[in-house]
Amino acid sequence: MKKPNILLIYTGGTIGMIKDSKTGALGAFDFENLIDKIPELNLLDCTIKTISFKKPIDSSNMNPDYWIKCAEIIELNYKEFDGFVVLHGSDTMSYSASALSFMLEDLAKPVVFTGSQLPIGDLRTDAKENLITSIQIASLREKGKPVIQEVSLYFEYKLYRGNRTTKINAEHFEAFTSLNYPELVESGVHLKVNNDFLYRPEKRKKLNVHRSLNTNVVIIKLFPGMSESILRSILESKNLQGVVLETYGAGNTSDDKWFIDLLKKAIKKGIQIINVTQCSGGSVLMGQYETSTQLKKIGVISGNDITTEAAITKLMYLLSLNLSKKSFKSVYQTSLRGELT
Ligand code: ASP
Repeated sequence: MKKPNILLIYTGGTIGMIKDSKTGALGAFDFENLIDKIPELNLLDCTIKTISFKKPIDSSNMNPDYWIKCAEIIELNYKEFDGFVVLHGSDTMSYSASALSFMLEDLAKPVVFTGSQLPIGDLRTDAKENLITSIQIASLREKGKPVIQEVSLYFEYKLYRGNRTTKINAEHFEAFTSLNYPELVESGVHLKVNNDFLYRPEKRKKLNVHRSLNTNVVIIKLFPGMSESILRSILESKNLQGVVLETYGAGNTSDDKWFIDLLKKAIKKGIQIINVTQCSGGSVLMGQYETSTQLKKIGVISGNDITTEAAITKLMYLLSLNLSKKSFKSVYQTSLRGELT
């Protein structure tokens, strides 16, 4: 049987850096000669090609133009390759994995995001394990079909659904978590695939790449003491079309009249407001408490158990589709790529 063909896409981030043995300074790693630098890759049962952003970026500079670039690289190479590993800085990796999950509709091949906390050239690096296992996972096949057929994220012995992840630690090797959805694969002595949790679209269609994202959106995190005038000026911003409102607990907010009135006015103007919880895990349940009943009445959309990263990228994606007001709500509350329960 033909060996799986894997494309490594290097976008930037710590993983791609190497310490100059003389000066100790971190510099960009030469991905063209990846196999020479990491001979262990020769032991993998797949062929690997690499492609790199011309100017690799720190993922703090990530933006929708780069997401489009990434999606186009995957589209252009979709036929030739069996799987894709995207090397990416960890800071915004969950946003990128979420965005790509929406942009790559009817994806039927693995796209594995990975990165590392320490550069690949560092003695104690976590980059090698993350890279090698990501490539192995992207190569997994069963009955001639890829095991993973979705955008995922591998870090520190776990593969997660990409749009379910959040970065939780800036120091630990275990930098990501997925509190509302189980791991897809656990890496120990063997790779343990949790088959029941893999994403499988009902019908196999051709990959459909969406290139348009609407960035007239904002995330507003509630806190006790939020000022009416500041909230008003945000909600009255000229081009605003969508808001992810990070609320308390199970989707609760203040029920002060001024607050509800401001939201009501924004919704009337056509702004879509999504309710997500600021808790790391759990779900929004509007109507469970009096403090969220009003939100439901005025037309706030429930994000259910979606992460903020997936909520904002889904908002950008759906706003670009120009759906009617009514269908926007029902499409947003539907799981499109397994991003909510
Ligand atoms: N600042 C870096 C980035 O996100 C951190 C990392 O690579 O993990 O690009």
